[in-house]
Amino acid sequence: MVAHGTRKSDGAAVYAVPSRSEANRWHLVVVNGLHLACDCVAGHWGRYCAHRAAVRARLELEAAVRRDAREREAERAFHAAARKLARATLTSSGSGSDEAMRWWMHGGDWDRTGGGAA
Ligand SMILES: [Zn+2]
Repeated sequence: MVAHGTRKSDGAAVYAVPSRSEANRWHLVVVNGLHLACDCVAGHWGRYCAHRAAVRARLELEAAVRRDAREREAERAFHAAARKLARATLTSSGSGSDEAMRWWMHGGDWDRTGGGAA
């Protein structure tokens, strides 16, 4: 369990991690770019403490979730375009409208070699 907040003085992200040795004691980990600073004894002596490890794991998880959401978004857009293309190709075979063919020709990165000159 990690609590998240923002330091008022400079807007830096601050995470509060419960101490394992003392009840009701929290250690504050300040995120400064890629650098994490902790107020515990180990952190004070520059050692990598469990609190910073917990915050780093949390940050990596959040980054992974964001990345995952972005990939899903791109995938949705791709499928939407593929459906549109499928519809366009279907209608072009029917009425012979060249509208769909124009869309096909200007459709961006599609591989057009399969479309042929039909
Ligand atoms: Zn610490």
